[in-house]
Amino acid sequence: MVRAAGEMRARDPDLIVVNGKVYTVDSRRPTAESFAVKDGRFVAVGSTTDIRALAGVNTEIFDAQHMTIVPGFNDSHNHAPGNELLYEALVGNPYDVEFVSIASIIDKLRERAASTPADTWVEGYFYDDTKSKDERALTMHDLDLVSNDLPVVVIHRGGHTAFYNSKAFKMADVGKSTPNPPGGTYDRDANGELTGRVTDNARTHIDAVGKRRQYVGEEALRRDRDGLAYISKQFVRFGLTSVCHESGNLHALQQVRERGDLLHRVSYEADGPELEAMISGGMATGLGDEWLRLGATCEHGVDGSFSERTMAMSVPYPGSKVGYRGNLTESQDVLNTWCERVHRAGIQMNCHANGDVAIDHVLTAYERALRLVPQPDARPKITHCTLVNDELVRRIKAIGAVPALFTSYAYYNPDKFHFYGEALMKRCMAFRTLMDAGVPAAAGSDFDPGPFSPLMGIQGMVTRTGWNGEVWGANQRISVAEALQVNTLNGAYATREERVKGSITPGKFADYVMLAEDLHTIDAGKIKDIKVLRTVVDGVTRYQG
Ligand SMILES: [Zn+2]
Repeated sequence: MVRAAGEMRARDPDLIVVNGKVYTVDSRRPTAESFAVKDGRFVAVGSTTDIRALAGVNTEIFDAQHMTIVPGFNDSHNHAPGNELLYEALVGNPYDVEFVSIASIIDKLRERAASTPADTWVEGYFYDDTKSKDERALTMHDLDLVSNDLPVVVIHRGGHTAFYNSKAFKMADVGKSTPNPPGGTYDRDANGELTGRVTDNARTHIDAVGKRRQYVGEEALRRDRDGLAYISKQFVRFGLTSVCHESGNLHALQQVRERGDLLHRVSYEADGPELEAMISGGMATGLGDEWLRLGATCEHGVDGSFSERTMAMSVPYPGSKVGYRGNLTESQDVLNTWCERVHRAGIQMNCHANGDVAIDHVLTAYERALRLVPQPDARPKITHCTLVNDELVRRIKAIGAVPALFTSYAYYNPDKFHFYGEALMKRCMAFRTLMDAGVPAAAGSDFDPGPFSPLMGIQGMVTRTGWNGEVWGANQRISVAEALQVNTLNGAYATREERVKGSITPGKFADYVMLAEDLHTIDAGKIKDIKVLRTVVDGVTRYQG
């Protein structure tokens, strides 16, 4: 039987795709062979024979030749300006596992330093401390080899820690006896000397010194436009059709769309001046259209990082001699006030919380805000929501919160999980636990920190096996079908758009991906290598491999 969204619309479709292996992520019809598209929407889904019968004289017929077709992938958490990819010194591989030498990092930054004016920062991006050919982390002394005159920083791709040279510490007047500020550390070695690594809130003080290259007016806009257009191309190359953007230049985003270079749909998560404008201007979550919509807030930071081992936990980090429990970067009172303010403004709350202590704080603030201003279906978002326990999962379920968990980490970051150990990893990135509890966990790559390939994410969720063959937290494995739902329909639910996207269902936007192999039947350890053949958004091919 053909399910059509109204007889009239299904007639004379613009496009009919036949002979496909279609996984719809629609529980009412999980698989199909064929579908019809009209005006950018699916209008019918069914068998090749039934759908072919809908063709009119102007209908394009595409023979999928048994290719696998799935709904377009949705990334619920992505730092997506793209400028770094285009313009900055990249000292690691943004997209995949690659080991680099410290010498290569120094070389790249030296080249950068040669054209950097006095007092201006030399910056390196996408550093990963456990992807070093030298099997050790960067030090202040390594970075002194870049320059003794200019401040130098290498930022970990996780975004919470950075490594500085001596000049930077000197300019900030930070020495071996400087105390750590609340929510951050100046790391020291066994002799009490600074190592160069600085975590979370301690970075603010150092980053405030020196100059940065400034771009203003049309030049700044042009760079932002080009960065966004560049990253949009990368997204569709990997099959992403919807992405939650953590802030960024909203004006540039609209211009990129106007000039036809926005290839994916954006849920814009506002921060700073844009968030203030939303609050003062009465712009609530949902304003916009199907290409560019105001979503939840940008992640509001509450603790440190999972990959950089600074998240706030209730137990000390295994192996820490000083009983380190991570960085809680905001007090409960300040957090409560922030949540209440955005919630009252009709904006979907969204906090970054990795450790169980931070998740507890965020839930306390959400529960309070929802008590003060009840709103059914508020779907407050918890970005990362990494380390859970049964009580936290119960509270997440009770208020209908939507967690956006790390996706590619299970494959990409196994070299960091020994810092936590198997007992904690059993409760980290807890897709199985959350889905069993009926919580619609979504997929948030957190790029830059994690590669954004959805297929890499799915492989990790299904196998919990890293690039190095290590398995961590196998109890949290989910099936391919579940992982597909996490990366499609659950993402749409997280942005309150499940009625218009997330599955191949009549009436929804024709966003889909054609894959060279069937991710359900291929060896699960090869899912990430499946070739994306075509990415279609709004019925139009945006990428062809
Ligand atoms: Zn993030």
